[in-house]
Amino acid sequence: MAVIVPVILVTATLYPVFRAHLDARLDGAISTADALLQGGHRTLQKDINASINHLLATAEMPLLKRYLDGVGVAQSPPLEAATQLTKAQVRALFDTLLPHYARYAQLSLTDLDGRALLSVGHAGLPPAGQDANAVLLHEARLLAPRDVYLSSPRRRLPYESGPSVGRPVMDIATPVYDTQGHRKGILRFTLDWQTLATHLQQTMALDAASYPLLVDARGTWLLDETQGPLPFGGHFASHSPETWKALLPRHHGKTDLDERLVMFQTYDARIHHYQSQAGMVTSEPGLQPWRLGIVLTKPSLATLLHEEKTLLFILLLLYLLSIAFGVYWAISHHRQHALRRQAQQLSHEAHQYALDVRDLYENAPCGYHSLDADGRVVKMNRTELAWLGYSAEEVIEKRNYRNFVTPETRQAFETAFQAVLGPEREGAAECELLTRSGETLPVVIQATAYITRHGYVNTRAMVFDLSERKQMEEALARQAMTDPLTGLGNRRYLHDQAAREMARARRSGAPLSLIAIDLDHFKRINDEYGHDAGDLVLQAFARTAQGLLREGDVLCRMGGEEFVAMLPDTPLDQAIQVAERLRQALENAPVEVGQEGIDKHLLRYTASLGVTSVDMDEPSLKPAIKRADSGLYEAKAQGRNRVVWM
Ligand code: GH3
Ligand code: MG
Ligand code: MG
Repeated sequence: MAVIVPVILVTATLYPVFRAHLDARLDGAISTADALLQGGHRTLQKDINASINHLLATAEMPLLKRYLDGVGVAQSPPLEAATQLTKAQVRALFDTLLPHYARYAQLSLTDLDGRALLSVGHAGLPPAGQDANAVLLHEARLLAPRDVYLSSPRRRLPYESGPSVGRPVMDIATPVYDTQGHRKGILRFTLDWQTLATHLQQTMALDAASYPLLVDARGTWLLDETQGPLPFGGHFASHSPETWKALLPRHHGKTDLDERLVMFQTYDARIHHYQSQAGMVTSEPGLQPWRLGIVLTKPSLATLLHEEKTLLFILLLLYLLSIAFGVYWAISHHRQHALRRQAQQLSHEAHQYALDVRDLYENAPCGYHSLDADGRVVKMNRTELAWLGYSAEEVIEKRNYRNFVTPETRQAFETAFQAVLGPEREGAAECELLTRSGETLPVVIQATAYITRHGYVNTRAMVFDLSERKQMEEALARQAMTDPLTGLGNRRYLHDQAAREMARARRSGAPLSLIAIDLDHFKRINDEYGHDAGDLVLQAFARTAQGLLREGDVLCRMGGEEFVAMLPDTPLDQAIQVAERLRQALENAPVEVGQEGIDKHLLRYTASLGVTSVDMDEPSLKPAIKRADSGLYEAKAQGRNRVVWM
C-alpha cells in the first residue's frame, strides 16, 4: 500500500502532463505529415506530368514524323536509305534522351500492329504479339492526337531487360503521326517506376515510425517494401483491410486507427495533368484514382521515453523517490503504531495500577483519612466510612473529624492533631469514635502532615480498630482474675473489687462484710476419694455458695479449699446469718462422686466460716481478711462446721 499509493499519485500527476505533451507531438506530426503529403502529391504529379510532356514533345518532333513518312509504305531504295538515316537520327535522339532522364527505362516506337520499329533502353525487343502491354497497344490505337494512355505500374517482364527483371515500371504511350497527319504508330515511354517511387518516398519521409502509402484503386501497393509494409504489387487491401476500408469512400482526410493515423488524398493521373499539353489521359479501367497517404505511428509514452533519455531518467528518479518515500512512510508509520501501542499498554497498566492503589486505599483493613488544618475531612476511605456508618457525600468536605471523637477521648485526639500541625509533623492518639448508630469504636490514629514545596496540604492518618484488642485485653484481664476450676474470681479479683466496693462504701457509708470459708478435713477427702473427687467438691461448693449469695456479693477462691465472700451493704449480723445459712446448706448438699456403676456415691462435706465487717478506716481489705481468718481458725479450733465472727 505504502508503495502503491505514492506511485499512483505520481502517475496521476504526471499523466496529464505526458498526455498534453503527446497530444502536442501528435499535432506537430499531423501538420508535418500534411505538408509532406501535399509535397508528395506535387512530386508525383510533377514527375508524371513531366513524363507525359516529354512523350508528347517527342511525338511532335518533325524528325520522328519524317521517319514515320517512310513507315508502312513501299519506298524506292534512295528513299529507303533516307528513311533509315532518319531512323538512325531518331535513335540517336532517343539514345541521348535516355541517360539524361533517370526515370526512363525504355523508349520505344511500334507500328500500329505492335511491331517494334525502334527501341532504346535496357530492354530487348519483344517478340511479335508479346508486347508487355497488349492492352496498352489496343488502347493506344484508339487514342486521338495528343491523347495519352497510362498503364498501371507493373513488374518488368523477363524479355524486357536482363539485370532489372522484376523492377517495377510504368508505360505511357501516345499515337504518332507522319508529316501528312497519318497515324503510323505508337510512341511508348517505359518509366522506371522504382525511381519515381523512391523520389516520392524521399519527399514524404517523416520518421522511422511513419511511412508513405500509395495504392491503386484495386488496393495494390505501388511502393517498395523499404519503407512500407508490403513489397511492390502486394495486395494492401487484404493486408490492411481496415485502413483500406477507411481510404475508399473519401478523396482526402484523416483516419484514426488505434495506434496509427492515416492522412491521405487521391491522385488521379487522368485529371491531374492540367499543366501538361495532353489532350485526354486514359488508363486501364478500375486502376485510377490512386490513394496517396502517410501512415503515422501515434507518439506513445514508450516512443517519447525512447527518444528522450533524460526524461526517462527523471521519471525513474521520481518513481524511485516516491517508492522510497512510501517505504519510509510505512516504516515510520509502523514505528508510530508500535509506540502508540506501547503507550496504550503503559497507560492501561498505569490505570490498572491506579485502580489497585485506589482499591488498596478504599478497602484497606484500616481506616485512612486526610484532614485540613481545621480538622475538616478532605478524604476518607470506605473502610473508615463503613466503621462510622456514613456515606462519603455526608462526610467529605462537610464534617469535622472532631465530631466523630467521643468527648472523653477528644483531648487525646486534639493533642495528637496539634502535634501533626506543629513542627513534629506527626502524632498518634488512642481514642474512641462515635458511630452513627451511637456505638463507640476504640481506635488508634497515627497521622503525619502531607507537605509539598508549597507548604502544608493536609494530614494523612491511618486509623486502626482497637475493639478486638480491647476485647482481648479484657478477656485476658478477666482470665487473670478468674479461678479456672470453679469459675470464681481469684485473690486478685477480690482485691480489685474490694478497692471499688470500699470506695463506694466510703462514699455511701453503707456497711461491708466479709466471710472467710475453709472446707473441713479436705485433705482427707482427697486422700480417701482422690483428687478428682476433691475438685468436684470444690466446684459443688462454688455452685452452692453462689446460689445462696446475692447478686452484688463477691465470692472468690483464695487458694486450695479456702474462699472469701464480700457482702456489700451488709452489716455484721446479717453477714453472720448468711454465713450460717451457707454452713447449713453445705452440710445438706452432698456431692456425687465416683463412676457410674463402680463406686458412685454421695459425699458429705462441711466448712468452717469466719465473719467480720470491714472498717472503713482501713486502707485495704487485708486487715478484715486477717480478722475473718482468725474467726475461721477459731471455728476450726472449736470443732469445725461452725460460724465464728470477730
Ligand atoms: P482442716 O479441717 O483443718 O482445714 O483440715 P484440712 O485437711 O482441710 O486442712 P489442710 O489445709 O491441711 O489441707 C488442705 C488440703 O486441701 C491440702 C491439699 O491437698 C488440698 N487441696 C488444696 N487445693 C486443692 C485442690 O484444688 N483440689 C483438691 N482436690 N485438693 C486441694
Ligand atoms: Mg485450708
Ligand atoms: Mg480445710
